[in-house]
Amino acid sequence: MSCPWIQLTNSSREIRPKVQLAIPTNTRFCTDFVAAIYSLGPIDTFIDITMVPELKTIGATPYTVGGGVSITDAINSFESRSSESGYEYLAQLASHLNYVANTSVRNVGSLTGNLMLKRAHPEFPSDVFVLLEAAGATVHVRDGTGGQTSLRPVELLSADMNRKVIEYITFPQHAATVRFT
Ligand SMILES: Cc1cc2nc3c(=O)[nH]c(=O)nc-3n(C[C@H](O)[C@H](O)[C@H](O)COP(=O)(O)OP(=O)(O)OC[C@H]3O[C@@H](n4cnc5c(N)ncnc54)[C@H](O)[C@@H]3O)c2cc1C
Repeated sequence: MSCPWIQLTNSSREIRPKVQLAIPTNTRFCTDFVAAIYSLGPIDTFIDITMVPELKTIGATPYTVGGGVSITDAINSFESRSSESGYEYLAQLASHLNYVANTSVRNVGSLTGNLMLKRAHPEFPSDVFVLLEAAGATVHVRDGTGGQTSLRPVELLSADMNRKVIEYITFPQHAATVRFT
């Protein structure tokens, strides 16, 4: 790979000015697997976000899953959280996500990487996109100046994501009678 590779390991507060200063136009935030399916296109700089602890965070109230959380860790969290009132539906999400790709891909791929793949290639039949949109999840996007935008997954598909990162996803509570089958 000939383009520069930047690995971020600091807190998001320290990252923002770095991203603001360093991030060129053709930049991709990389966790891993997209090149296995689609070309990434022309890229000036890779920024590796797999070591950013804030993006690995799973929060309780509201229920948030960080932009760097793997699909496997999201599944485990969904299963655990589904025992709580209002989050029963997460058991169905976890069950469906267990059919996505294979164990290796789920261990490395993220919900956010999947959504961004769907955004770049609308023809991609993303299970993650369908599940998050149906669940009423909200995608929280941060730009290089610290500005934040909250989007539904379907809104993300047409949003300007240049020099922006998905920081976390929030999941609402639903009545226990809500079922995803
Ligand atoms: C063999 C195989 C089978 C698969 N089967 C399925 C399937 O059945 N169903 C399904 O839904 N998916 C499937 N996928 C897709 C897979 O689940 C991953 O989501 C997808 O490959 C993206 O990988 P990744 O999450 O590592 O993202 P990456 O490759 O790291 O990134 C993808 C894009 O998202 C951007 N990005 C990543 N994180 C962020 C962030 N936090 N903020 C902003 N941009 C970001 C990157 O810059 C890049 O442009 C499959 C993939 C493979 C390789």
